[in-house]
Amino acid sequence: MTATMQALIYKDIGDLRLESRPLPELREPTDALVRVRLSSICTSDLHIRNGAVPRARPGVVLGHEFVGEVVETGREVRRVRPGQRVAVNVETFCGQCFFCRQGFVNNCERGGWELGCRIDGCQTEYVRVPFADNGLDPLPDSVDDMAALLVGDVLASGYFGAELAAIRPGDTVLVLGAGPVGICAMLCARLFGPARIIAVDKLDDRLALAQRMGAADDVILVPDGVDTQAVAGQVRDLTRGRGADAVIECAGSSATFTLAWQAARPNASVALVALYETEQTLPLPRMYGKNLIFKTGGVDAVHSARLIRLIEEGRLDTRPLITHTFPLRDILVAYDVFSRRKDGCIKCAILPDAADASLSTFNPRFTR
Ligand SMILES: [Zn+2]
Ligand SMILES: [Zn+2]
Repeated sequence: MTATMQALIYKDIGDLRLESRPLPELREPTDALVRVRLSSICTSDLHIRNGAVPRARPGVVLGHEFVGEVVETGREVRRVRPGQRVAVNVETFCGQCFFCRQGFVNNCERGGWELGCRIDGCQTEYVRVPFADNGLDPLPDSVDDMAALLVGDVLASGYFGAELAAIRPGDTVLVLGAGPVGICAMLCARLFGPARIIAVDKLDDRLALAQRMGAADDVILVPDGVDTQAVAGQVRDLTRGRGADAVIECAGSSATFTLAWQAARPNASVALVALYETEQTLPLPRMYGKNLIFKTGGVDAVHSARLIRLIEEGRLDTRPLITHTFPLRDILVAYDVFSRRKDGCIKCAILPDAADASLSTFNPRFTR
């Protein structure tokens, strides 16, 4: 172990830098120290960079989605031990407070979204993970790092969106946004037995990927500036004039926010899991009588063990979403590729520089 490690730091709005940091150490008996095996860049990291996450602390190591190996545990940690490969939860949660006891871990009184936001995250080599018994889930050998990378955040968010949307067997589900969270929401929506999943995005290649992955049955390409009423009309055409039974909004633009309620049928559930960079307005007079149910989130990532089992059984596979891999030393290039969606980029995996040779030769470019 070297005394320092490379880490991507959120210095200030618009200013990210790769710097040398001392290795983290355990602070609480419930902490674990985890060596990063594979991490990612998430759209939420871009929101922090853009200044749209006021609770983010300047100086923090970015990154909140990763797979690692436990190297040290505090004396009260029971569920994981050194040497174990683990998926790491985006949420830090105590498991004992009022909110945790009801599964609302995003609002844990002693945590919430901390990693890579308020405490040091995973775009580095080692991470201190508080409440390790809650935040770490052991991985079976049959689930490799790439297969498990999205378990703790993006896949959890997709599952959360599908749950919020209260999908019933036979429903038509509309998912707005075919990025990583959107496609994960479609894959998870499928688990609830809908008759049909309709995907909406402004990028053709993302919709094509959603179809190739079996995530979407129908797709609607919506270029910027298209009238949302016209798109809602297309959804009604696909649903006997009624509109979608359940809507999951993962895109986070004003247009998709509007489309979410316009394309919903009366009495539908509308799940808003996108992180908006600007305020949105619900035009209640225009919606009166439509009797919609809105739910918003902040993922309560409490189903990691179940998601890992579904991956193991081959019922969830998010690997096709990881289109690019970069070594940690090139992470600023990776941010540029990811944020500009260059070269068809959906999701970037980041390999720590000291990773196994077997891993660093891995090229996950989507070839199916
Ligand atoms: Zn995220
Ligand atoms: Zn709690």
